[in-house]
Amino acid sequence: MTQTNFTDKNKVTKVAIIANGKFQSKKVANKLFSVLRDDEAFYLTKKNPDIVISIGGDGMLLSAFHAYENELNRVRFVGIHTGHLGFYTDYLDNQVDEFLKNLRADKGEKISYPILDVKVNLVDGREFTATALNEVTIKRIEKTMVADVVVNKIRMERFRGDGLLVATPTGSTAYNKSLGGAILHPSFEALQLTEIASLNNRVFRTVGSSMIIPSKDKIELLPRRTGSYVINVDNKTYHFRNVEQVTYQLSDRKINFMATPWHTSFWQRVKDAFIGDDV
Ligand code: NAP
Ligand code: MN
Repeated sequence: MTQTNFTDKNKVTKVAIIANGKFQSKKVANKLFSVLRDDEAFYLTKKNPDIVISIGGDGMLLSAFHAYENELNRVRFVGIHTGHLGFYTDYLDNQVDEFLKNLRADKGEKISYPILDVKVNLVDGREFTATALNEVTIKRIEKTMVADVVVNKIRMERFRGDGLLVATPTGSTAYNKSLGGAILHPSFEALQLTEIASLNNRVFRTVGSSMIIPSKDKIELLPRRTGSYVINVDNKTYHFRNVEQVTYQLSDRKINFMATPWHTSFWQRVKDAFIGDDV
């Protein structure tokens, strides 16, 4: 009988490392790669990983999310940020040793956040679906967008303006915030509907404020005019002609993050990102 020395790939943790093009990110990736390659408890692979390590900013984590969006049930993400903490990143690039220590002690704990499902129905009968971590925006290219907004079957308004955005709680600090939307703590299972430059005068009326919509309620958008529309799902752009309806709802699925032993409060992240140290 011959005996082969082999590593049981079912028992080891499968880890994918992805990094953006920044010098500092590549440096961190190389370090993790060489340490984990020599550790029998881990198997480095981009295929069906258990843990995805994203090195770079929140934008990099958006890319990592979309690269593994069909495996969300199994995958846990962890973000290492170069420079400053982000909303989706728990470690700084000078905390790689702490990260490795926590990775080795990891028992599979996770923190989960809601994500957003969107469905686009075209006039010609075709259907397109996508899932967003931050938000979905729709804009009409040539002229003012005119669309009926339906919230939980109530026809709310006929919107006229540049477009509309629907954000997840963790996406509320991104584009949504630039549009004057509220910051929503990720423990709320809700969507936020935010206007992009609505026309408001004696003839045309919209609610004006962002609306926080509970998870059970669908948001439906019915464009009143044919033409070209651009729909952004996080960092991806899609072009459509003749959109009949767009439907938004919180997903049954969630994004899972590897839990860190220390917890950086969401409000601390808000302060770090938007205010700084001066208060
Ligand atoms: P980008 O234009 O290169 O970066 C957008 C910025 O948003 C980056 O500084 C990024 O942080 C930050 N960010 C991403 N997600 C965030 C979150 N959940 N909370 C707070 N800040 C966040 O584009 P990208 O990196 O591909 O990211 C796409 C995102 O850009 C979209 O999802 C949208 O939210 C945002 N965006 C914003 C505007 C606007 O504010 N006017 C317009 C278009 C798109 P990092 O530096 O850590 O990566
Ligand atoms: Mn950044």
